[in-house]
Amino acid sequence: MIFLKTEEEIELLRQSNLLVGKTLAEVAKLIKPGVTTLELDKAAEEFIRDNGAIPTFKGFPNHCGQAFPATLCTSVNEQVVHGIPNNTILKDGDVVSVDCGVFMNGFCGDSAYTFCVGDVAEEIKKLLKTTKEALYKGIENAVVGKRIGDIGYAIQNYCESNSYGVVREFVGHGIGHEMHEEPQVPNFGRRGTGTLLKKGLCIAIEPMITMGDKQVIMENDGWTVRTRDRKIAAHFEHTIAINTGKADILSSFEFIEQVLGNKDI
Ligand code: MG
Ligand code: MG
Repeated sequence: MIFLKTEEEIELLRQSNLLVGKTLAEVAKLIKPGVTTLELDKAAEEFIRDNGAIPTFKGFPNHCGQAFPATLCTSVNEQVVHGIPNNTILKDGDVVSVDCGVFMNGFCGDSAYTFCVGDVAEEIKKLLKTTKEALYKGIENAVVGKRIGDIGYAIQNYCESNSYGVVREFVGHGIGHEMHEEPQVPNFGRRGTGTLLKKGLCIAIEPMITMGDKQVIMENDGWTVRTRDRKIAAHFEHTIAINTGKADILSSFEFIEQVLGNKDI
């Protein structure tokens, strides 16, 4: 069942998603060599709760019914998504994908950004830049009258033409009262196929892109997804509302990029 949102509901979704953007900016302030992913998680949880919201990921069940233990997903280097914050110390040259979800006033926010830790190799920065650009290529195609497959095609075509891998097993999603609603939003697809995009459809688009092969495996913790060949991965995510003309981007990287300045991708 696909729920189209009213303008009032979209404004509430925007508030939740702006809080995610601000939380990721708080995290951005802390990211440097020597910090642990657990420290990032604690700061994020405190910020979310101080703003009257709840971290949606905490307690979220996986396919085995195990609850996710943290506020953020922190996925370092070859980890693609769903990494669990822990005492891992971030090192100069690492990248860390931080995914954050909040629930406030009945609506979910969901957005992700891959950060550089200290000085990162140019080829890795190019992966991050391409993944972020691919997200916006997908968003350009998320307009009334197009279909879900047009979004996936745009992302896949852009990333594969840069010789990167496009993860198949994990996808974007509808979003609203629930973090994961219908439809699924794959980062691959064929033009003109899939669900028709209508005004008021709210979705999270989230390319997960790898420097090597697209194959991923799940670690024994039941959550962490990493590349099989252990090559670096990147993940950027926006929540958007479909509109006639341009999509309305409800989440925001502006707060993050104010913190990062020009020194990053
Ligand atoms: Mg997310
Ligand atoms: Mg998501």
